[in-house]
Amino acid sequence: MTGTVRELRVHESVRALVRPFVTAIRRADAIPVVLVEAVDDTGASGWGEAAVSWRVTGESPASVRAAVLGPLSDVVVGRPLDATATLGADLARAVVQNAAARSAVECAVQDLSAARRGLTLAAALGAPGPGLSGGRGRRTGPGVRSDVGLRSDLRVPADLTEPADVRVRTDITVSAASTETLVAVARQHVADGFTTIKVKVGAGGDDRAALVALRESVGPDVVLRVDANQAWGVDEAVGIIRYWEAAGVGLELVEQPVRARDLDGLAAVTAQVGTPVLADESVRTSDDLREVIRRRAAGLVNLKLAKTGGLAAARSMAELAARNGIGVVVGCMMESSVGVAAAAALAASLGGADAARTHDLDAGLWQSTSPVRGGIRYDGAEVALSSRPGLGIDGPAGDGPLVGDDPAVDLPAAQRTVAP
Ligand SMILES: [Mg+2]
Repeated sequence: MTGTVRELRVHESVRALVRPFVTAIRRADAIPVVLVEAVDDTGASGWGEAAVSWRVTGESPASVRAAVLGPLSDVVVGRPLDATATLGADLARAVVQNAAARSAVECAVQDLSAARRGLTLAAALGAPGPGLSGGRGRRTGPGVRSDVGLRSDLRVPADLTEPADVRVRTDITVSAASTETLVAVARQHVADGFTTIKVKVGAGGDDRAALVALRESVGPDVVLRVDANQAWGVDEAVGIIRYWEAAGVGLELVEQPVRARDLDGLAAVTAQVGTPVLADESVRTSDDLREVIRRRAAGLVNLKLAKTGGLAAARSMAELAARNGIGVVVGCMMESSVGVAAAAALAASLGGADAARTHDLDAGLWQSTSPVRGGIRYDGAEVALSSRPGLGIDGPAGDGPLVGDDPAVDLPAAQRTVAP
C-alpha cells in the first residue's frame, strides 16, 4: 500500500501571541502561521509548518506559498509515499535556501508516509513510539496500551484515542524584560511545572543583575539557560558569563552569545568560559555544523527544522553532532504546535545523552490555541506526542484567533508588561 502525493496546499493565518515575544533581534505580538497540507491519493492529509520571519528565517508567507506551489510541488506531486529516503535531498535540489518551506513540505509528506504505514512520525524516525518496543523515549502515565492495532488500521476511531505515551521535555522561554518582570514571569512558569527557564538576554537590560536576582528567587533546583541571540561581542560575552559564574548563578548553557557568522568569536567564548555554549543561528546546515566542530566553537547545537530544511537533514546533523561529542537541543521558531509536533518527533528519535535533554519546544504555548485538531499537547514541562499515526493531526481547527480576535488571556499582569 504505497500511495502517492496528489496535491500540496498552503494555509495562512495570523495568530496573536498570549504575550509579547521579545529578544535581542525582534519583538512580536502576533505571528503569521503558514501550514502546508499534503494530500494523498485517498484524500488523507499530512501536515507541516513553515516558520516565517524576515529577520530570522528570511522567508515570508508569500515566499513559502510560491516555493511550495511551484518547484516543491513539482518534486512531490505524483511521488510514491514510500520514496522518502531522498525526499529532503530532492527538495533541497529544487530550491536554493527556502529551508522553512522545504521543511514544511518534507514534514507533511513524512506525516502522510508514516501514517500510511500505521506509525507515528516519531516511530518512523526511529523513536520508540506506538508499535515499537523498548528504546529511548519515555513512556509515562496510565493508559499506555499495546498499539499493535494502529499498524494495520490507519483510520483510528475516536474512541481509540489514547493519552500520548511518548513525551519530550521542554524549557519555557521568558522574553527580555525588566528584572522585576522577568522574575515574576519565571516564578509563574515554575509554579506551572516548568523546570527549565530560558531567558532572552542582550536586549539592553541589566542582564548581570537580572540573572542573579532570578537565581535567588527561583532557588537552586530550577535549570536556567540564557539566549543572547547574537547580541554580544566576544569580550562582552566572556565578561558577562564569567560574572554569572563568579556569582554562582549556575547556568546550564549560554545560547548564541555572538554574531552567527563569527565562528572564531564563538570559539573564543567557548574557550574562555566554563559554561557550555549552544550554537543556534551559527548552524543552519551540516556544513555549518562541521565548521563548529572543526573550530570547537560550541559544545551544543540547537537544531531547528526551519533552519535545516527538514527532518532528514536534521537527523543527519544530529548524528554528526553525536559522533563528535556535540550535544543536541531540538528547538523551534516562533511557530504553532504543527511545527513543534514535527520537532518533538525529531527530539523523541534522538539517542544517547540527547534522549534525556530538555529541548526548546515551547512555541506552541505562545498561542492560546492550536491551529489544528489533534497533534501534540502540552502537559507542564512536557510535550506529549500523539500516539496516533503520523503526527496525529485531524485537520484545521477552524476557530483559531486571528489578530484582534484573541480572547483575553488570563495571565498575570507581569506577563503582559514587557520592557521595550
Ligand atoms: Mg536561539
